[in-house]
Amino acid sequence: SDMGGLKNLVANTDYLKAQSLDEKEIKKRRCSLGLPHLGNCTDVRASVSKGFEDICEQQPIGRACFRQFLSVSSPEYLAAAELLDELNCWNLAEAEAKEEARLNIINKFCKADSKSFLAFLTEDEAEKCKAVSEKDFEEVMMGQVKEATQKFLRGQPFEEYQTSLFFDRFVQWKKFEKQPITDKYFYEFRTLGKGGFGEVCGVQVKTTGQMYACKKLDKKRLKKKSGEKMALLEKKILEMVNSLFIVNLAYAFDTKTHLCLVMTLMSGGDLKYHIFHVGEVGIEMERIIHYTAQITSGILHLHSMDIVYRDMKPENVLLDCQGQCRLSDLGLAVELPNGKTTTQKAGTKGYMAPEILKQEPYRTSVDWWALGCSIYEMVAGRVPFRDHKEKVAKEELLRRTLEDEVKFEHRNFDAPSKDIISLFLKRNIEDRLGSNDDPRKHEFFKSINFPRLEAGLIPPPWEPKANVVYAKDTGDIREFSDVKGVKFDANDEKFFKEFSTGAVPIAWQQGMIDSGLFDELSDPNRKESAAGLEDE
Ligand code: ADP
Ligand code: MG
Ligand code: MG
Repeated sequence: SDMGGLKNLVANTDYLKAQSLDEKEIKKRRCSLGLPHLGNCTDVRASVSKGFEDICEQQPIGRACFRQFLSVSSPEYLAAAELLDELNCWNLAEAEAKEEARLNIINKFCKADSKSFLAFLTEDEAEKCKAVSEKDFEEVMMGQVKEATQKFLRGQPFEEYQTSLFFDRFVQWKKFEKQPITDKYFYEFRTLGKGGFGEVCGVQVKTTGQMYACKKLDKKRLKKKSGEKMALLEKKILEMVNSLFIVNLAYAFDTKTHLCLVMTLMSGGDLKYHIFHVGEVGIEMERIIHYTAQITSGILHLHSMDIVYRDMKPENVLLDCQGQCRLSDLGLAVELPNGKTTTQKAGTKGYMAPEILKQEPYRTSVDWWALGCSIYEMVAGRVPFRDHKEKVAKEELLRRTLEDEVKFEHRNFDAPSKDIISLFLKRNIEDRLGSNDDPRKHEFFKSINFPRLEAGLIPPPWEPKANVVYAKDTGDIREFSDVKGVKFDANDEKFFKEFSTGAVPIAWQQGMIDSGLFDELSDPNRKESAAGLEDE
């Protein structure tokens, strides 16, 4: 309604105002921050992981500290680090830039007299490196030479790093990361949506100014509806995930009344809203291809960790303020190690694969089926076996899903979209796209450079307008009524504690880097704050 629209507009303006009002305050807080003193970090030092991959590659601040150590320790270490950086750039570069990057690498690293020659290579590796040609560049450099460089860094340099000042710095950051988190750590803004156990609202980290979405789960409601196990499972799965195409968890904490999941803020609306309520029904093909490429990468990331999503549908795909999308709501996801299957009925009507409906054993195949239904819906404004808002009996939907031919009547279908949808909608699991072949190789994606997409380098085809709320009547979201007659026992307290683990390392560290705080606090001229971490 119009009133809803007006309410949205007002709510949105308020939300922006709150943001700019606090800018000064945030600056003040940032200036008073300091890393904790090393003397207070012995507990954390003892518990920090000793795995190279974990602390020097995966954790963003760990990687940055190790990289700083390599830069200043020896020309040989520096050359190794720079080679890996430049190979990465080459891998992501396009056309002329790629050619330039290749020539640079050869001149800098592959000539016997170059300053940065890789002295740690074995004789055999060095010969290959020197003889590298345009044709075998990828094979030699991304293969043997890259592996030899990584192996070198894992040895002596990694040993030395762990007794260096740079590692001390990393330990201080780990201590900072492990500080207890409460609701005082955030400013709270307006409600963004409503979930089964509470609202989702915008929050801002007081110290960095970063914005997130906070999904609040009412403790009493959870207990009353026995949702605790599900909530913990969702949190544990979110915590494992680290992808540009899935909402990432940054913090998990609790208040007296709520469990809170602080996640990537997605303020551009969900794809269902974009299909049905923005412009004509459906989405333009160029956008569908971009979103589907991102969704496919997100699903592959989940599957690579043996997680089956089970709730793929446009409604669960959210856009951020720039127009990039991510999968959200992992409440139905399950971890199923390779070889393990389930027959549990889970998913949303209209998107469930035949194997789920027939209660046959399934694993990751169901996500590809649901993706086929979702692409179909983005084009046609309806799912393959059900008209939009059509009332269909369960038995009839089952019959159609198992028997009916998929019809592509809408004029917006083209040959590649029809083909990829048909392949995702193969009833036989073995024949389905995604079961044996990589969907990213399908011609539907011929315009997408996946390494660049997966590095976040492809701009979105469409950008949400800053002054529009892409949601139905957010003004309508009412407070939840009070749940009565629920008392907590020791078991509940144990569960709350297991849930409230504070900052999630990779997301938190990335936040420190993106917000500039990592550079600010790493500045050797900055005086260590006497206040340390103590906030307020
Ligand atoms: P539930 O599992 O209880 O359904 P969801 O995770 O689906 O909860 O979240 C409920 C609603 O909150 C969503 O439909 C969406 O409108 C909004 N929402 C969820 N996550 C985010 C996010 N990361 N950014 C912005 N809005 C979100
Ligand atoms: Mg939901
Ligand atoms: Mg859910």
